[in-house]
Amino acid sequence: MVLAQLGGSIARALQQMSNATIIDEKVLSDCLNEISRALLQADVQFKMVREMQLNIKRIVSFDELAAGHNKRRIIQKAIFDELCNMLDPGKPSYTPKKGKTSVVMFVGLQGSGKTTTCTKYAYYHQKKGWKPALVCADTFRAGAFDQLKQNATKAKIPFYGSYMESDPVKIAVEGVERFKKENCDLLIIDTSGRHKQEAALFEEMRQVSEATKPDLVIFVMDSSIGQAAFDQAQAFKQNVPVGAVIVTKMDGHAKGGGALSAVAATKSPIIFIGTGEHMDEFEVFDVKPFVSRLLG
Ligand code: GDP
Repeated sequence: MVLAQLGGSIARALQQMSNATIIDEKVLSDCLNEISRALLQADVQFKMVREMQLNIKRIVSFDELAAGHNKRRIIQKAIFDELCNMLDPGKPSYTPKKGKTSVVMFVGLQGSGKTTTCTKYAYYHQKKGWKPALVCADTFRAGAFDQLKQNATKAKIPFYGSYMESDPVKIAVEGVERFKKENCDLLIIDTSGRHKQEAALFEEMRQVSEATKPDLVIFVMDSSIGQAAFDQAQAFKQNVPVGAVIVTKMDGHAKGGGALSAVAATKSPIIFIGTGEHMDEFEVFDVKPFVSRLLG
C-alpha cells in the first residue's frame, strides 16, 4: 500500500467518525479498527498497531470526558500525536556542524540505495557550503567503487577507494585520515551491503565502525522492505551504533510502515527520505508534515 493510500484510508476512517451523530466507544472502536487495518496493510508491525490502539483508548477516556468536550477533535489529535510519537524516538540524532570534522558511516542491505544516498547526502551538504568527501569501504561488491566514483565525479565531490585493496577497514581508515588532512568537514563512509553470510557482514561493519569511530551511523532502508524492516533495522542496531535512519524510494510503491518500524527498532529518528534516483531527489524528513500528509 502506498503512503497516499494509507493516508486515504485513515482520512476516510476519521471522516466516518466525524459523520456519526454521537461519538461513543463503538464509533471510536470502529474508527481505530479501520486505522489499524490501514497501518497493518502498510506493513506497520502488529505490536506497534496494538500499542497505538491502547494508547489512544487510554487518552480518550469517555468516562472522563465532560459533555461539553469536542470528542472528535480530541480523538483526531490523539491519533495525530500517536502517529507522530511512533516516528519520534524522543531524542534528535547527532547533527554534524559545518567546518567541524564529522565522520558519518552508512550501513544497510545491498540494493537499499546506500551508495546513491551517500552521494545525495554529500551533495545536499555541499550545496550548503560544506566540504564533504566520500570513502568507498565496500570491497566486497565488484563495481561498488566505480559506482561511488561516478556519482562523486558527477557531483564534484572528492572520493577515496581502491580497486586492489580488499580490506575495507584499511580503506576506511586511510580515507578518513586523508580527508581530515584536506580539511573536509563531512567524511562519509559507504560500506558493504552484502556478504557470503550475514555474520561476516556485521563483523565487517563492527570493525569499520571501531576503526573509524564515526560520529553518526546512518541506517539506509528501502521503503518497500515491508514487515522485514523491524528485524533488519534491529540487526544492524545490535551490531553498530545506528543513530539515524534514511528511508529510500519513497517515490515508488513505498509502504509507509517500514519507516515506523525502523524508528522503533533503532530508537533513532528518520533524518532524510530519498524520493528518486537523482542526486537532488532527497528531502529533510519532518515528522509533523509527514503525518499530516498521511492523515490526508
Ligand atoms: P546499494 O546497493 O545499497 O548501494 O544501492 P544503490 O545505491 O546502488 O541503489 C540501488 C538502486 O536503487 C539504484 O538503481 C538506485 O538508482 C536506486 N535508488 C536509490 N535511491 C532511490 C530512491 O530514493 N528512489 C528511487 N526510485 N530509486 C532509488
